[in-house]
Amino acid sequence: MDYQQRLTRAKKLLEQSKRVFALTGAGISTESGIPDYRSPGTGLWEKVNPLKTASASALRNDPAEFYRTTIAQWREFSKAEPNAGHYALKELEENGYILGIITQNIDGLHLKAGSQSVLEVHGHLRTARCMQCENRVLFEEITRQLDAGTNPPRCAKCSGVLRPDVVLFEDPMSEDFLKASKVLSGCDLLLVIGTSLQVYPVATLPQLAKRLIIINKMPTPYDNQAELIFRESIGQVLTDLKNLCLVD
Ligand SMILES: [Zn+2]
Repeated sequence: MDYQQRLTRAKKLLEQSKRVFALTGAGISTESGIPDYRSPGTGLWEKVNPLKTASASALRNDPAEFYRTTIAQWREFSKAEPNAGHYALKELEENGYILGIITQNIDGLHLKAGSQSVLEVHGHLRTARCMQCENRVLFEEITRQLDAGTNPPRCAKCSGVLRPDVVLFEDPMSEDFLKASKVLSGCDLLLVIGTSLQVYPVATLPQLAKRLIIINKMPTPYDNQAELIFRESIGQVLTDLKNLCLVD
């Protein structure tokens, strides 16, 4: 099937399905200038070992080193702006084509784009918490202290170490992940966008959907079960699909 035929088929599937969700990963944010950890060649994880740098034990064992290796990337995430792909999903939700988004991304770009129903299964960078007393602060409190030379950043109440509300390697799964598993049971159609489905347990979520449309540059373990596969630019595919759906 050529590109136009796949778009037309995708629109039909969207119209025929009642419970449609999107599952997004790093690939949707690369067009916002955020590198994808797992893309060969450009991936951040090729330079650093994620289990050493972004794990809960790394944070516990040496919080200052943890912040030295992760903070530059998080600052980039929190400065990024949504792109055409995020905005197209927002419009598809607004017009009733999708019920919500489940995202692996911590960049908060779906909410910045105006999407309403977003489950952030790996957390986000809007807030942080004290590892001792659970006191909640804005993420900016971490960058403010680091900028002032305080590493690791500490809680004003008990001087425990602050950590962002992201899910690190070795952390238990988030409440949003449990919610995602719930909303996806009975899902007729799942748009899998910009994720190669390599990270567990998120990689198990597509099993809950009856049908899949995959929009991803690289192959995924679910390709042979997908109704349609797009390897084209995510921003382009979602914009074209949104325009096709909203034309009549
Ligand atoms: Zn505290």
